[in-house]
Parts: sequence; C-alpha cells; structure tokens
Amino acid sequence: MKILVLNSGSSSLKFTLFQMSDETVLISGTFERIGLPQSIFSFQEFGAPNETVVADIPTQGAALDTLFEALTAAPISALADIPAVAHRLGHGGKYRETKLIDTEVMDEIRKVTPFFPLHYPAMILEIEECMKKMPQALHVAVFDCSFHRNIPDEAAIYGLPYRFFSEKGFRRIGYHGNSHAFSAIESSNFLGRPLTQLRIITLHLGNGSSSCAIKYGKSIDTTMGFTTVEGLIMGTRSGDIDPGLIPFIMDDEKLSTDQISDMLVNHSGLLGISGLSRDMREIEKAAIEGHERASLALNAFCYKVKRSIGSMLPALGACDVLVFTGGIGINSSTVRSKCLEGTQELGFIIDHEKNLNLAPPTMAHPVAEISAHSSPIRILVIRANEEIIMARECHDLAKAVLKI
Ligand code: ADP
Repeated sequence: MKILVLNSGSSSLKFTLFQMSDETVLISGTFERIGLPQSIFSFQEFGAPNETVVADIPTQGAALDTLFEALTAAPISALADIPAVAHRLGHGGKYRETKLIDTEVMDEIRKVTPFFPLHYPAMILEIEECMKKMPQALHVAVFDCSFHRNIPDEAAIYGLPYRFFSEKGFRRIGYHGNSHAFSAIESSNFLGRPLTQLRIITLHLGNGSSSCAIKYGKSIDTTMGFTTVEGLIMGTRSGDIDPGLIPFIMDDEKLSTDQISDMLVNHSGLLGISGLSRDMREIEKAAIEGHERASLALNAFCYKVKRSIGSMLPALGACDVLVFTGGIGINSSTVRSKCLEGTQELGFIIDHEKNLNLAPPTMAHPVAEISAHSSPIRILVIRANEEIIMARECHDLAKAVLKI
C-alpha cells in the first residue's frame, strides 16, 4: 500500500509518499512561501537528485495540484494508486487517537482552531482541498498529541478551578508526539532492548521544543501543554512564565489578548531574550563573538532543558536512556553538552570527543551514541522521522477499514 503523508504549516506544505511494504520513500519534498511571490517547491524522488522549482503558488489547493502533477509524472500512474492520506494535526479536540476524517472530526478540529490561529486554518484548508481532489482515498488525521494520551490526570491538570479541566478540557495535551515516539522506538532498536523495559527521556529541540518522559513505551509526562507555548524556551515562544505576570503586562503595556498572544508566541524565547534571532546557529555564533544577550539566551535555553530532565527523573523513577532530537538536538554539540553540564553524578556522562565530532545522524542511519562507556545512562542522538510514524498509524487504520 502507498501512503501519502501531508504536513502543512501556515505557509508551507511538506509531503512524503511511502511504499509501506518496505517503508521506502518514493518521493518527498516541501512547498515554502505558499501565498507569497516566488514560492519554492523542492522535491526528491527515490534515488534521484533533489529538484527545486520557483513559481507563484497562491494557495494550499494550488500546492496540492502541483504536488499531484509531480506524483503522477513519476512515482505513480494515477492518484487512485494512493488509497490513504495521513494529515498531520496537533490538537484533536476530544479525539486523542488517529481518526478517519469525516464531518464530525472536521467539526471537532474547527472547534480548536481559535487556539492555533497560525496553523489550523492552513491545515483545515489543506485537508478540505485534498479530500476534494482525492475523493477515492481514505483521509486520516494523525494528531501530534496522540502519543501523550496516557499522561495521568495528576500530571495533565492545571491548578485552575476544576471546571476548566472537566468542562473545557484545558489540560496538558502535549505535542511532538510522533517525534518522541520515533525516538523511543529507535532507542529500543539500537539498544536491542524491548521498549517495555526502558525508561526514556526524549528532548525534541527545534524551533519548537519539548521534553518527554516515556515509561515502558508510553508517554507519562511532557513539557508542552494545552497549547504549544508551555514548557521549554523556544525559538520565538516563551515557554513557562509566571501566569501572574500576564494580566500585569497586559495592563502595563495596554495590550489586547491578540497582542499578548502574539508577544508570547512570536516575539519571545531565543529571539526575545537575544534581540537577535530565533535561529540557534546565529545565537551560538553571536555568543562566541561576545554578544551578551545571545549568551544569556543560549544558557537559559540549555538550563531550562536541564531542569526539565530533572523534573522527568522522579516521574520515571530512573532513566535508562536520554535522547537528543530535533534540528538543534542533532546538530548542536554545544547545546547537548551544556544541557548536561554538572549532571555526571545523576548518571549522564557524555563522551565529549564523540559529542564534538558527531556527524548529524541521517534518515538512513538515524541513531548515534554520545555517552561515555562509564555512563550508567545511555545518551543517544536521533534524527527524527515523524513522517514514518504518521504513515504507520495511517496504514494500520487503512488496513482495518479496508479489511486487508
Ligand atoms: P522545527 O521545530 O521547525 O521542525 P527544526 O527541528 O528543523 O525546527 O530545528 C530548527 C532549529 O535547529 C533552528 O534553531 C536551527 O538554528 C537549529 N539548527 C540547525 N542546524 C544547526 C546547527 N548546526 N547548530 C545549531 N543549531 C542548528
């Protein structure tokens, strides 16, 4: 069976077409700058070089038309060859598991749109357009929060009046679930030990970042919350702040709810602290050159990650494996070593030479180890492959629906 995985952002669309018999990627690529002049369409077919096309692509629908032309030009002869499409979503409202999309599911997804004004409108548009253009296929919603559905209430509830939990569903939902799940599975494969015996802390560090405690294969806690703003310091998101400050800041700076939300989501984090960039590469470079606020942003980012590791340890009881993943996690030896500075006595002992010289793991070889031989806790660096987790989820559901 061939499965198409779609992942849309506010102005982007990523896609991967898998042949599920051996999980081969037949074609994958990205549309960037959708709706802006000179959109970029780049893709790579199995065994072929990367290709890039620059053209105006005004909408998600136009991006899908271009994608379908590329698909039918080579890896498949007709769209009918794709029986199921996986669409990535974050929060699924009342749904916490992979779902076949119908009008009820779409209504539920629309209900949570106000909490994700940047991403959900584009995602909904992409799903609607794709369903119109591929009416023969099963359309499946794969939620980023699914992996966290077993987090116990005591870890998920906020200290607010109970009705917000019981009536409105305001609880820690968690995100990056497909990435955390992939890290857990690959750790188990790499170590040759069953998931059901491992206590793992995964650190997904990218533009968005979150830590996760995985006990015997299940997520039992994570740092992101109902929205993706809670938890670690991120590229432009604040992460945890004192909730008591929010009304004060709004009052003091005369900010509307939209303006405070914009500040917490788009102007905080690494960018807000450094005043320079949200990009960790630029932050690290500036810190080396003596930029004090860049140094502070780097140190605060790593300290917050370190503290999250500490908070996960007692939740797990003990830790067998720590994983760095995400763009920062796989690329930055500086961040990895800073996050674990002073934690040797807790069992996290890095081999600094291995860490420094590590070539970032690839799709083909996604796992590398940077722990010292003497480290009681294994420390791994894993190249995330969220798409394959989505494809597997979609494949399982499609097989059940089609009874094959
Ligand atoms: P997203 O959360 O958008 O998927 P990624 O996981 O791709 O983001 O991570 C993007 C982050 O990875 C950026 O902050 C970028 O600077 C950082 N990054 C990429 N390469 C490096 C590198 N060599 N050193 C440090 N940070 C890097």
